[in-house]
Amino acid sequence: MLLQEVEYARPPSVLEALRLLSERDGARALAGGQTLINVMKARAASPDFLVDLQDLDELREIELGSDGTLELGAMVTYSDLLSSAEARARPILGEVCATIADVQVRNRGTIGGNVCANDPTNHLPPLMVALGATMTVVGTGGERQVPAEEFFLGVYMTAAGPGELLTKISIPAGKGDGFAAVTIGKDGTCIVNAAASIDGGAPRVVIGCVDAVPVLLQPQSAEGDAVRTAVRDAKLDPPADFHASSDYRRTLAEVLAVRAVQQAQERKS
Ligand SMILES: Cc1cc2nc3c(=O)[nH]c(=O)nc-3n(C[C@H](O)[C@H](O)[C@H](O)COP(=O)(O)OP(=O)(O)OC[C@H]3O[C@@H](n4cnc5c(N)ncnc54)[C@H](O)[C@@H]3O)c2cc1C
Repeated sequence: MLLQEVEYARPPSVLEALRLLSERDGARALAGGQTLINVMKARAASPDFLVDLQDLDELREIELGSDGTLELGAMVTYSDLLSSAEARARPILGEVCATIADVQVRNRGTIGGNVCANDPTNHLPPLMVALGATMTVVGTGGERQVPAEEFFLGVYMTAAGPGELLTKISIPAGKGDGFAAVTIGKDGTCIVNAAASIDGGAPRVVIGCVDAVPVLLQPQSAEGDAVRTAVRDAKLDPPADFHASSDYRRTLAEVLAVRAVQQAQERKS
């Protein structure tokens, strides 16, 4: 289906992008377009003004601080991340991005677009929560830092509100990370996914695809029984659809959480 008519601007700076976004009610940021253009073609969204972020080089930087903090600009694509030496400080990021869809999606899709879309089946929202990331959100009123676990508010809804931009994702230094998913076909959409990170004591475990937002669990230890108990205690009520029943997703959540924690544990030592 063809796109409906839409106005378009390609501002040269974040400041100008924010001005355009805040002046028009129907304005929407356009990053890689791998979600937004498709939902516009399907008429599930109909912004009347697209503010293309392609020329904002300031949002494409990847920096590794001396304390191990990794800073990723919102317009970093999956392919940029895969080829970045700095991002290898946190190998799980490249490993997960390498499994997202196909080369075209990886060349165009951005990490900012992935988390701002907050499609509950996306790979990066649970991973960012597990890694303890902090999102930098900028509006005409200034800048604020939002912990990843507070950034995801509902299906397709995040703390980056109308007129605002996510500019950067900061990931603190960590020791061992893991990710496990069951997908529809190879490198397809996730039916359930789980991300884990261990930096000393008990793991942070996050389950995706079972609720509107990633579900953060804090098991008492990295032992399989403790992880399974934490998943059961969360009393998940996942959606059922053509691909999986609610019960099957609940079972997958346990299995994948244990796998993700095992991977994180192996890498930590
Ligand atoms: C065939 C196909 C298969 C896919 N499979 C998967 C998959 O298995 N797993 C997965 O995780 N993803 C998958 N995707 C989605 C893909 O990863 C998208 O690239 C991603 O969800 C959106 O990133 P984008 O840069 O294309 O953002 P866009 O589509 O341009 O934008 C998405 C949304 O985020 C907003 N936005 C973008 N950037 C910002 C910003 N900096 N600040 C504020 N708001 C912003 C936009 O306004 C829009 O609402 C798939 C896509 C396709 C086409």
